[in-house]
Amino acid sequence: MSNSGTHADAVRETQIVERMRVFLIESPIKMARRQGVGNVGGTVKRVLVELTSSDGIVGWGEAAPWEVFTGTAEAAFAALDIYLRPLVLGHPVQRARALMAKMDKALVGHAEAKVAVEMALLDILGHATGLSIADLLGGRVRDTIPLSFSIADPDFAADLARMKEMVPAGTRIFKVKTGVHDHREDLAHLEAIRTEFGDTIDLRVDYNQALDPFDAIKKLRDVDHFAPTFIEQPVPRPHLNAMASFASALDTPILADESCYDAVDLMEVIRLKAADAISVKLMKCGGLFKAQGLMAIADAAGLPGYGGTLWEGGIALAAGTQLIAATPGISLGCEFYMPHYVLTEDVLEERVPLRSGHVVVPDGPGLGVRVTEASLRANARVLAEA
Ligand code: MG
Repeated sequence: MSNSGTHADAVRETQIVERMRVFLIESPIKMARRQGVGNVGGTVKRVLVELTSSDGIVGWGEAAPWEVFTGTAEAAFAALDIYLRPLVLGHPVQRARALMAKMDKALVGHAEAKVAVEMALLDILGHATGLSIADLLGGRVRDTIPLSFSIADPDFAADLARMKEMVPAGTRIFKVKTGVHDHREDLAHLEAIRTEFGDTIDLRVDYNQALDPFDAIKKLRDVDHFAPTFIEQPVPRPHLNAMASFASALDTPILADESCYDAVDLMEVIRLKAADAISVKLMKCGGLFKAQGLMAIADAAGLPGYGGTLWEGGIALAAGTQLIAATPGISLGCEFYMPHYVLTEDVLEERVPLRSGHVVVPDGPGLGVRVTEASLRANARVLAEA
């Protein structure tokens, strides 16, 4: 043997995924959310994956679909338990990309299930090497991420009261969910926010596909007047030509969320000039590596990224935090507020900290968060496990 490093590498290379457990969980939420589609109240379902390597290292992943957006938690559970399990078990822990390719070949769609496996595998690799997932993705370019809070409470007065507490405490980015109420009411809310906070906040608007392309431009011109940082997804997913006409007609940049899941969608967005920025979600694009690939294309086209969410809990948001920490182009902040403001509890032993309106990228290996079976069972209802 030429040196001991070679021997150590050879030993590590032999580690495989030896055990896989899947949990379908339901967590209570403490704040009703009106988004125009898929209004949420009561509980949120998610799927957690625990992988254990042959040398006993445990990694966690999370699939957080939303039925109006990417799919169902039940489908993610079945995908993991029945279709992906045979591919994951026995796979070398150091070959994450090979496993992603294998899963794509064996099962169409189910982006959320696949990213859950990827984050659990990278969590193992991080714990094995002492590196964070951001390190494994190329290293940090930022240590904190500006937090965007969504104004989506059916009771707008409650949201305004919340903002009055959050702004002095450092949160500066607020995204108003428009298109849920009548247009005049939306304008009244934007007016109330600008009157109260002026230009001291970074105001954004998200229609969640609510407008009809037929007369959207009239409403968007009214919104343009409030000078938001961007208008997110004004019309339904397929209407890229309408998105392009808004992007050229308005001063306010247009951000594509539902119109841009993955790199294939992004190519079309760029070809049609349908957006000025994109929302990047692990659950849409199906992987941390894929998200970085998506942003490489966006960078080349001059489109910044925004860290969006569905209804992720702490594990998936920790993965998103690691991704944004290591991806320069995702420069528009993130909306990772759920564990602090929406979920009553999370399955983490300790939540990823927020400080002065910023998510603090956690130190420590892997995802940088700790999960145990006890913390999971204490804070969520387990509907099924396999
Ligand atoms: Mg959105």
